This record gives sequence, C-alpha cells and structure tokens, in this order.
Amino acid sequence: MSLVGAGIFTTDLFLNREHVSAGSQVRRNYPPSAEYPDLRKHYSHMATYLTPDVYAKLCHKVTPNGFTLDQAIQTGVDNPGEPLVESVGMVAGDEESYEVFADLFYPVILERHNGYNPRTMTQPTDLDASKIRGGQFDERYVLSTRVRAGRSIRGFSLPPACTRAERREVQRIVADALAGLQGELEGHYYHLAEMTEQEKQQLTDDHFLFGKPASPLMIACRMARDWPDARGIWHNKQKTFLVWVNEEDHTRVISMEKGGNMKQVFERFCKGLKEVEKLIMEKGWEFMWNERVGYILTCPSNLGTGLRTSVHITLPHLSKDPRFPKILENLRLQKRGTGGEDTDVVDAVFDISNLDRLGQSEVQLVQMMIDGVNYLIDCEKKLEKGQDIHIPPPISQFK
Ligand code: ADP
Ligand code: MG
Repeated sequence: MSLVGAGIFTTDLFLNREHVSAGSQVRRNYPPSAEYPDLRKHYSHMATYLTPDVYAKLCHKVTPNGFTLDQAIQTGVDNPGEPLVESVGMVAGDEESYEVFADLFYPVILERHNGYNPRTMTQPTDLDASKIRGGQFDERYVLSTRVRAGRSIRGFSLPPACTRAERREVQRIVADALAGLQGELEGHYYHLAEMTEQEKQQLTDDHFLFGKPASPLMIACRMARDWPDARGIWHNKQKTFLVWVNEEDHTRVISMEKGGNMKQVFERFCKGLKEVEKLIMEKGWEFMWNERVGYILTCPSNLGTGLRTSVHITLPHLSKDPRFPKILENLRLQKRGTGGEDTDVVDAVFDISNLDRLGQSEVQLVQMMIDGVNYLIDCEKKLEKGQDIHIPPPISQFK
C-alpha cells in the first residue's frame, strides 16, 4: 500500500488501524447460537450460505478497519427478499472483508457470478477498445448508451463503513487527481452539498446524477450516512465523461452519450479510466484490486470488472412476449427501468445491461452486450413484421 502524499492525517488513520487489528475480536456476552439471525423466510445468497457453523466461525472476526460479520450481513437480515428476486444480502466494509469473511463471501460470489470460484479462478482485465467488433446500434431502438465501472481507493473503508474523515479524504484524493484531466476529458468537480435543488434535479432528470440511496437495502447498508457530506460529481463540459464520488462506491467512472454508438462510448471509457488511474497513482494512491476477485467494490455483485454497460432501448413488441425474460437470461442480460435500479419501466423503454461483472474481461462483457442487444433489436424487428422469434441457446460465461 502506497502512502506517498498521504500526509500526517492519513498516517494517523493507518496507525489507528494497526491498533484496531492487533488482536481485535468482537466482544460477546452470548454464544454465537444465541446471536444467529433468523433467516428462515429469507431469500438471498447470504441467507443460503450463512449456516450456524459459518456464523459461529466468523462472528468474532474483525477486519483491520473494525468491520464485523454482523455489519456485513445486516442489509440481508433486515431485508428478507422474495423468491424470484434473490438479492446478494451482504456488503463489504473494506478490502479485507472479502478475505476475513471469505467462508461466506466466496460461496455467495460463486452463486451470484454463475459459478466463478475465487479460490481457483483469476479475473482478467482488458481495456483495449480496439478489439470490439461492431458497436453501432440501430438508433430507432437504442436511445442512449452508457458504460460505468466502480473503483475503490486502497486503504480506506468502503461507504458502508467509512468514517466522515475517511469519506472526505477519498473525495479530496479523487477530486485532486481528476483536476489533472485534459482535452476532451477536462472538467470540474461539483460538491453535492453546494448544488441548488434545481441543479440537482436537472442533472438527475438527465440521468447524470445519483440520488441519496433510498431503498431499504441501501439504507440497511448504512451508505447514506451523513448525506450529502463528501459526495459529488465530476464531469467534463459535454457531460460525456463523469465520475461519481462516494455514492455506493468510492468512485463510479462513467462514459455516456445519447444514441447508440457503444464502440465510441467504450473507447472514451477506457481512455478516461486509464487516465484517472494514472493520475491517482501519481498522487501516491491505487485502486483496490486482486487477481482472485478483480476490482474490489462494496457489493459482491459488482466485483471483477465492476462494469455495467447499458442502453436505454425501446422494445414495445418483445417486452410483451412471454419469452422476453428467458431471452434476456440466456443472453446474460438484465433489465431495469430507465430511472435506474428499482425504478419502473415506462412506455416499454428499458435499461438493458450485462448481468455479469466477474469471470470475463471488460472487452468480453461489452462484446457480449453488443451481440445481445443486437439480438433483441432483431427480435423486435421480426415481431413488428409478424414473424416468429427464437430463444437463443444460453451463453456459457466461462470459456
Ligand atoms: P448504476 O448504479 O449501475 O450506475 P443505476 O441503475 O443506479 O446504475 O442508474 C444510475 C443512473 O444512470 C440513472 O439515472 C439511470 O437513468 C442512468 N443510466 C443508466 N444507464 C443509462 C443509459 N444507457 N443511458 C442514460 N442513462 C443511463
Ligand atoms: Mg446504482
């Protein structure tokens, strides 16, 4: 871990951590069996794998930043979920969470990521956009295109666990680094706390800005604490390259534009992300990463590439067809409303994105998404003409 440029403030932070990690254990007055949560009516990956034995093994452990198993699972304990919308049910509080609580995180990761085993597999990274084939969608269907990935700054607790000071320090580091972007990427950082309601609303309506995490799942993760302290958005003049600071992850790096030029959006994403990483490293910091799970992020569902590439697409015929969910599943695609996660679909316009983040590189995921979206457009055109469509064979995720 690099501390160059960290200053006295951050050094103190690390000393405190070492103090915490020296022999820390959760102090308990009752045995694990008395503390074990009632998960009998729960549907989440966490609830599937948190057996009384696993709980007993992990419930005393504390990460170097002071994060515990009970904190990691609270969101899944408080939100039982439903059989057909199985959520993850747990989050990480820091980089070390994934290792300290691996006996629970790893099976959850394996199930959520369709068989990716962090103990035996390694995560590739490929940000060479020139390898993409095709990537210009039919703009009668695709209205806008976006690629985002999360990145965390090594050494700091993640949003469910960070202190106010840590969160402010992450903001300072990221905003400082982004000030070095030039040319097409040059822009400004805007503090959420200093924006007017009107400015925030406009940026939100235009799909650029995040809102305060409001779902019960997010609230139970504790990442909306102290809102809007140390949150903000950085963007270039054209609002085609954006960085969110301290939402669900330390950073979310985004490339987006209207229309269907996925190749161009991905090219800008790769160029911008490499530039951002270089500037962060020049200041003496680095992203959390290891070869077992790739880039480390708050939610296990985002591990790996952290990449979600999406289109807003109009599918009035296909979305009424009963085969639509199966077609999406077989293409490893996911649907949302265009207001983002947990929003309703309006007028048959969907947010369609890649389902997987782990086990494949960025280039592979974007290619899979391009091929999949083209398949959906093809189906839509066939249904318009009254022709039949077919469910494609399931894509095998690991080649
Ligand atoms: P994520 O957390 O994966 O970045 P969300 O589903 O939380 O995505 O949505 C965040 C914001 O990004 C929302 O305002 C959403 O409308 C916007 N968004 C996502 N995909 C697109 C897209 N292809 N075009 C325009 N806006 C998008
Ligand atoms: Mg989101």
